[in-house]
Amino acid sequence: MTSTDKLRQVIGEASVSVAEDVLFRSSMDNLRLSRLPDAVVFPRDEEMVGQVLRLANELSVPVTARGAGSATTGATTPWHGGWVLDFSQWQQLHIDPVSQMAYVQPGVTVQALDQAALKHGLTYPPDPGSAKYATIGGTLACNAGGLRGAKYGVTRDYVYALEGFLPTGEFVRWGAGVKKYVSGYNMRDLWIGSEGTLGVITGAVLKLIPAPESRQTFFVRFLLTKSVPCVQLKPFSPSACCPAHWNFSIVSPLYVLNACGNAVCFPDMQVVRFCW
Ligand SMILES: Cc1cc2nc3c(=O)[nH]c(=O)nc-3n(C[C@H](O)[C@H](O)[C@H](O)COP(=O)(O)OP(=O)(O)OC[C@H]3O[C@@H](n4cnc5c(N)ncnc54)[C@H](O)[C@@H]3O)c2cc1C
Repeated sequence: MTSTDKLRQVIGEASVSVAEDVLFRSSMDNLRLSRLPDAVVFPRDEEMVGQVLRLANELSVPVTARGAGSATTGATTPWHGGWVLDFSQWQQLHIDPVSQMAYVQPGVTVQALDQAALKHGLTYPPDPGSAKYATIGGTLACNAGGLRGAKYGVTRDYVYALEGFLPTGEFVRWGAGVKKYVSGYNMRDLWIGSEGTLGVITGAVLKLIPAPESRQTFFVRFLLTKSVPCVQLKPFSPSACCPAHWNFSIVSPLYVLNACGNAVCFPDMQVVRFCW
């Protein structure tokens, strides 16, 4: 009897797939290096996650947690085979607008969380370019940043608490859904960015902040001299007013359409684009 047969006995047929297309889909992330797992598990609930991990530990089967598979490092590839624990369907989400906290299952996408928060005038700032499909579990495990990181920081800056399972199948909770939680070892931050090597995340309490009332984009152009960025950009420095992101473009000569739609040429110019 194989380890996957034993797994089926313990958690039932319905939650385990060995279908070729499912194995292939779970064999890689965005790096596109593929290693087939032996089986893909779609856990029904937390109890089942614990059961799978306990059995894997007993039988020495490698386990890889999976969200959307959008990591670009091969972190999601089950290099040693074994079982993939797929959390993409764990999509429950609750927003508490009073405490400005979100209670999130790992399969909720970053974009879905931000859109739900916006309905309450709040926002979840971490915004990796993959936000549309990257899951909260995956972005916690990768400590993802994003385009607005210079202003708002990264995923770690928005986590109050995590819960999940150790590789031995033991349930753990790190932190709590309160704003001040400072005692004891900070296991929560150790888990963030650990790419699933320390355990499996099954829930998180995340910090939301008031959404900006409006967003503005500015284009600033300046002459190509060595000192220009320091001197001319001073009004836009983080201490003056912090843009959410800046794009520096070296465009020389720069052509801009004027109000009549005619191209006007600015020779020897650089451009900076700011977004708040
Ligand atoms: C187009 C594109 C743009 C991107 N832009 C950025 C960017 O601007 N900034 C940035 O920082 N990153 C960026 N990324 C990478 C980003 O970090 C990942 O997309 C994201 O974190 C992975 O989420 P996922 O749900 O796809 O996780 P997956 O790829 O499924 O998993 C990623 C890692 O997390 C682990 N994991 C997944 N779920 C869990 C869980 N429940 N418990 C424990 N471990 C788990 C996996 O084992 C794996 O190690 C980008 C990626 C793409 C493809």
